[in-house]
Amino acid sequence: MDRTEVLIVGQGIAGSMLAYELLKSGRKVRIMDDLSEKTSSKVAAGLYNPITGRHMVKTWLADEIFPNLGVHYEEMERDLGEKFHFPMTIYRPFFSITEQNDWMGKSESSEYSDLVLTVNTSSLGHEGFIDPYGGVQLQKCGYVDMIKLIHSFNLYFDSKGILIPQLFDFRILETDGELLKYGNLEFDLIVFCEGDRVINNPFWQHLSFRLVKGEVFTIDFSSDSNIILNRGVFMIPKDGFSTVGSTYDHKNLDWEPSERGINSIKEKLSKIFSGKYRILSKWAGIRPATFDRRPFIGFHKDDKRIGIFNGFGTKGVSLVPYFAKQFAKQITNGERMLSEVAIDR
Ligand SMILES: Cc1cc2nc3c(=O)[nH]c(=O)nc-3n(C[C@H](O)[C@H](O)[C@H](O)COP(=O)(O)OP(=O)(O)OC[C@H]3O[C@@H](n4cnc5c(N)ncnc54)[C@H](O)[C@@H]3O)c2cc1C
Repeated sequence: MDRTEVLIVGQGIAGSMLAYELLKSGRKVRIMDDLSEKTSSKVAAGLYNPITGRHMVKTWLADEIFPNLGVHYEEMERDLGEKFHFPMTIYRPFFSITEQNDWMGKSESSEYSDLVLTVNTSSLGHEGFIDPYGGVQLQKCGYVDMIKLIHSFNLYFDSKGILIPQLFDFRILETDGELLKYGNLEFDLIVFCEGDRVINNPFWQHLSFRLVKGEVFTIDFSSDSNIILNRGVFMIPKDGFSTVGSTYDHKNLDWEPSERGINSIKEKLSKIFSGKYRILSKWAGIRPATFDRRPFIGFHKDDKRIGIFNGFGTKGVSLVPYFAKQFAKQITNGERMLSEVAIDR
């Protein structure tokens, strides 16, 4: 028998970062993934932003998460030997003088002053940007190249000999003995990080997931500044192209880009960007979201050896590093998690 402490199922951003934190705290870990291409992490745009939504308010836990987010990604970059974190400014054009005035006030409040870089009262003058009333530039934002992140973690776990590249089959899991068993592997705990495929997991049928499809495309336009244009949709400049998205569709839960989705992004983009572009590629994916927009983190009420770390929805890039650290501390030292993420909430 091959003995380990924690078996993690799923090597998306959630499973990868939980495994990374557990390894750092000295735990013996194995991570199983069937290397599917249809995963939320492999299609995500990778954007993170502390102020979001139509009303532009601080996101949940912004004050706890965002001051250290860049530091966490830089630490991972050093350990994994790859660059995947790109801090940038987010620029939200104003649609009226009233908005300009509102943001002037907001930027001076103690709550927002550290997140606002500048309030521009006239156009930035960037090619294609529609911003006659100026806009607000936000800091502590940026994007993570998710393909590189997942690939680097894959190589990292493989180099440590802890990656099991196969499909997890529930029929093989044995829960009767003192230790859990899967084939010739024995372990104390199993943590499921399966993204949207959680809906097939027999242990978590009682949890209220609300999956949401998202669509994204790339265009042959890229500004040479480090500014992400963002209002209704985002346009992230990369090397010679930009990533544009996204949509939120709770009904059509498939992995195909649709004409409807692409047109809705194009229409929203046309309100903030007038430059000429050609679509280079488009894709779609399913986000593992929940009804109350909080993740599910913890252990099963009937078997405390079976855990879940999932439900990061639209915000995996910012929430996962923070909660992976917290959950690793709970597993290692029994520290309590926030009640908002408890699975019996
Ligand atoms: C179009 C789109 C754009 C997005 N943009 C952003 C963004 O800009 N910013 C942001 O923060 N978030 C974004 N997201 C959301 C983000 O992708 C998710 O929050 C995050 O990736 C979820 O990660 P995860 O590890 O929980 O799930 P996943 O990435 O889905 O990982 C689950 C892993 O488990 C594996 N797996 C599942 N079942 C099994 C099994 N039985 N056996 C073996 N392996 C298994 C899968 O192969 C996969 O590797 C976007 C999502 C989409 C779809």
